[in-house]
Amino acid sequence: MARYIGPVCKLCRREGMKLYLKGERCYSEKCSYTRRPYPPGAHGQGRIKMSEYGLRLREKQKVRRIYGVLERQFRRYFADATRRKGRTGEEMLNLLERRLDSTVQRMGFAVTRSAARQFVKHNHLLVNGRRVNIPSYLVRAGDKIQVREQSRKMPDLVSAMASADKRPLVSWVEVDKTAFLGTVKSAPVRDELNEPAIREQYVVEYYSR
Ligand code: SF4
Repeated sequence: MARYIGPVCKLCRREGMKLYLKGERCYSEKCSYTRRPYPPGAHGQGRIKMSEYGLRLREKQKVRRIYGVLERQFRRYFADATRRKGRTGEEMLNLLERRLDSTVQRMGFAVTRSAARQFVKHNHLLVNGRRVNIPSYLVRAGDKIQVREQSRKMPDLVSAMASADKRPLVSWVEVDKTAFLGTVKSAPVRDELNEPAIREQYVVEYYSR
């Protein structure tokens, strides 16, 4: 599946908030959004009056960019969410959070979701003892995700695990650092998905036009 490979700090500046796409840098003074908190481009500092449609479009783009999913796949998550029993917006976030790359990042094995995606693609993980290299694989409560033995000394993994406590921790995953093992305890909890803030209702309204 294709992925965005352009400059990511521009995405934060476009969305008007930190999306935490670059790891350590996002928490430092070098963050581009901290230094230039206005949209990229020649007219970035001009006055823009956002329409009602624009608000919803930006929210949809923001969520898509946070999870590193392109439009077609994102639409599929939305369509899948509409078929589920709960609130569509929350169901959509639930599906996005349960992606294997997102879960691996939440467990602290990677600093960002894009790093986690690469980690998954390069066969460094076992899910319930079996090798899985599909970033969009959906995890379930009870799943056990372990770093393969031969991958445990990778510098990116070591530094990501060392700095994991600095990033927001969530209650639905549990990590045993000595065994390089993460367990999915339950479904993601909506109230813990607030950094960056998400207004999923706008995404629902965008696709319900
Ligand atoms: Fe770049 Fe991270 Fe700052 Fe976003 S939050 S602008 S990705 S450094």
